[in-house]
Amino acid sequence: MDWAIVACFPILAAFAAMIIIAKGLSKNLFKCKHCLKEFNTDWTKLVFVMHSDNEYSIKCPYCNKKDCMIQKN
Ligand SMILES: [Zn+2]
Repeated sequence: MDWAIVACFPILAAFAAMIIIAKGLSKNLFKCKHCLKEFNTDWTKLVFVMHSDNEYSIKCPYCNKKDCMIQKN
């Protein structure tokens, strides 16, 4: 069953990369486009989140709307 291990490896590597990216992103401050409040979010919420450029569809903890952007320092 060596082929199974070989097939799993790129999937695991891609998954590990996603976690590393998400952990890096969670260090940033996010800003809600609706109520303009800033907040931090857990990396687990960033792993499968949709994004384009610096816009992320994370739920705002203040108004529960989903358009947030990364606040770059
Ligand atoms: Zn908000």
